[in-house]
Amino acid sequence: MPIQLAIIGYGGMGSYHANDILTKETCVNVRGCFDIKADRKAQIEADGHYAYASLAELLMDATVEAVLVATPNDSHKELTLRSLQAGKHVICEKPVALSVVDFAEMTAAAEKNQRCLFVHQNRRWDADFLIMRELYQQQRLGAIFQLESRVHGANGIPGDWRRTKAAGGGMLLDWGVHLLDQLLFLVDSPIKTISADFSYILGDEVDDGFVSYLTFANGLKAVIEVGTTNYIKLPRWYAKGVTGTALIQDWDLSGELVLQTDNQTAAEPKPIQAGQGLTKTMAPPSEEATKHVQLPKAPTAEYPTFYQNVYAVIREQAEPIVKNREVKQVLELMAQIATAAQTGETIHLS
Ligand code: NAD
Repeated sequence: MPIQLAIIGYGGMGSYHANDILTKETCVNVRGCFDIKADRKAQIEADGHYAYASLAELLMDATVEAVLVATPNDSHKELTLRSLQAGKHVICEKPVALSVVDFAEMTAAAEKNQRCLFVHQNRRWDADFLIMRELYQQQRLGAIFQLESRVHGANGIPGDWRRTKAAGGGMLLDWGVHLLDQLLFLVDSPIKTISADFSYILGDEVDDGFVSYLTFANGLKAVIEVGTTNYIKLPRWYAKGVTGTALIQDWDLSGELVLQTDNQTAAEPKPIQAGQGLTKTMAPPSEEATKHVQLPKAPTAEYPTFYQNVYAVIREQAEPIVKNREVKQVLELMAQIATAAQTGETIHLS
């Protein structure tokens, strides 16, 4: 029996769940949607879904077992609490809350009402991330000691609410939450230090991008960067290991690995003319010493899809893939990044 789901908020993401993600799933059925804006209500009907007249009508619909909250970030907490109190399971869009304290209230309400609370950290299923995770875990580059994860755009901050503090706007909350969730899902080692810098190039009251530099107890150093004023993008992923380097250019999965060969006694690199000088250090490595290798095929996640997992947790008491203690860690890390950016000081954790 599929889970009967109602969607609150039928903007970009709510409608994407309804008309894209969920059309590929048989384990969840969309009962209807609700949006406070009249034009979005009309769109719900135009897309062939039932449009609830009010939130109360949606929450009182006894056939609805679960609710997806896909509204601006500042409304997640209240809508989640109301849905849990109405006896619904809740799937909440990222970032689930604006603070660790708010999230604690939400998880406590889920426990009290004996309902599940899921957070849609969907980028754990991204093919580029899964390739990088496999390279990291299988040590295809030797041990990776430097990982750079970036998303760069040149369109500024989109829309209205993402540009205001009150609505939970800014790029740390918007994209940072994805990149940090991926990083903590990938690296199994405690964070040692955190430093960060926010960008306010566009003059908004919220960050239009940020860079954070994190070090881990296992020696890994990570750069996490989000930019919205980058007319030339840097690669999505760049990783350095002791025996190779990987580059994933973009979500199109272009890129390559360059790996050391067994032939490290081969001829030394020849000096090259570089600008007004000569260099051997910065010359390409000799052809015998390195090989160019295609990126591995994107491994499909070894775990079920997000909604298959939601189904298994609700119906079969399976373990959630996106665990709320992990979500909490990411919220804590975002708060620390904000503090590091505001004070200009490095935070030392261990
Ligand atoms: P959006 O502005 O396109 O849509 C938000 C919709 O919510 C609007 O139609 C608005 O009228 C409606 N709304 C606002 N308050 C409401 C309320 N109280 N009740 C019912 N409807 C209400 O925004 P979006 O881009 O769809 O983002 C929505 C959420 O989805 C945000 O939390 C965002 O971070 C998240 N999101 C997640 C991803 C992802 O990949 N996981 C991608 C984009 C957005």
